[in-house]
Amino acid sequence: MSTALPSYDQAVALVAACAAQLRRLQPSAERVTLGQAAGRVLAQPLFADRDQPPFARSTRDGFACRASEASAHLPLTVVGSTHAGEAPAGPLQPGAAWEIMTGAPVPPGADTVAMIEHVEVVEGQLRLLPPRTLKPGENIVAQGAQARQGDSLLRAGTVLKPAQIALAAACGCAALEVFVRPRVAILATGDELVPVESSPTPGQIRNSNGPMLAALVAVAGGEPWLLPAAADNAQALDAALAQAAEADLLLISGGVSAGKFDLVEPALARAGARFHFTGVRIQPGKPLVFGELPVKNARNLQNENRTKCFFGLPGNPVSSAVTFLLFAAPVLTALAGSLELLPRFALALLASATDKHVKPGLTRFLPAFCDFGATANQLPEVALVPWHGSGDLAALARANCFLVVPEEAHRLETGAIVRILLF
Ligand code: AMP
Ligand code: MG
Repeated sequence: MSTALPSYDQAVALVAACAAQLRRLQPSAERVTLGQAAGRVLAQPLFADRDQPPFARSTRDGFACRASEASAHLPLTVVGSTHAGEAPAGPLQPGAAWEIMTGAPVPPGADTVAMIEHVEVVEGQLRLLPPRTLKPGENIVAQGAQARQGDSLLRAGTVLKPAQIALAAACGCAALEVFVRPRVAILATGDELVPVESSPTPGQIRNSNGPMLAALVAVAGGEPWLLPAAADNAQALDAALAQAAEADLLLISGGVSAGKFDLVEPALARAGARFHFTGVRIQPGKPLVFGELPVKNARNLQNENRTKCFFGLPGNPVSSAVTFLLFAAPVLTALAGSLELLPRFALALLASATDKHVKPGLTRFLPAFCDFGATANQLPEVALVPWHGSGDLAALARANCFLVVPEEAHRLETGAIVRILLF
């Protein structure tokens, strides 16, 4: 193991510094309907078009009345009824109550709602059943309690998920300005690769990293641009890198180890690359390469420095997935104008101890399955997925996270609270 390689933490810091630079650049924006908005990044703040709720709103089926009168258990005359969708009723006179449904406007003068289960109504006379009492404000959400007209409810950079889309709808926005997704070129390299539609001959394998990386890019907010796989020779790689020139971010898989046919680094160097690191002390994924290429015509960004980030991801599928999640995803979210911070980690209880680590000094990311259906007040439990090294795609597909084994740890014990990388 070369000690010249950055540690995991050092590599994270190098990538974060580049991501911070990219965050300063404003991606261009486009307008999408709410139906197309899931996962997109808001380009402008969302403002409340009116108070939320727009009127004092009953949260219960029952009777609007005065808390002081109801709590004294006086008989109150039921003088009217409002259900959700009806205009607010007129002022409520003393000694009166107003039947009201959940979501309906509370008439002025009433300061509480008695739940239907807590009253008796005899011949139009309502009484709160003793010993119950009511406080002013009970079962009512005041007008504007959640937001005032003109309040900023969502910041630019917010990733639109179901709740944010619902909020936009509540504010009358049928369409939203969102950032144009960064275009991410995905270039698989390797003489052994054939497209998924082809029948591999002995010695060949299907290019599974291409579709996997495309899916990872889409989930992280990018627009995947799958290039045809490139062969392991200088000419093919130079041509493929030239083809990827218009991308906002470039992901290359394979060809970054130290083998005779690992020709990606020299090809990047010929294209004018500046390397931030060529290897990280992690496992899997140690040969990961990260740097910047000069940009000829970036589509989306006003990039004064005219560079674009690239990652040379190791070809083994587990290595490709881990290195994407740890390093490429945060750069992608920065390019996307997103405030979301990736990668996502969580804490869990380790179901059974890890093997003794033979090569300390590497931060390890082991495929694992976390049972998030934990019982109340307990951390979810995570178990390692048996695997046969970083080429074990089937094991990767059985995992829903990676167990993080810190570089100084030789072994993590059963029952330890551990960090997991979610994916
Ligand atoms: P490399 O990083 O180029 O040395 O690739 C290491 C190994 O990863 C190869 O021998 C393949 O088994 C596998 N591999 C490389 N590229 C891909 C790919 N695009 N899809 C699936 N497996 C790949
Ligand atoms: Mg290769």
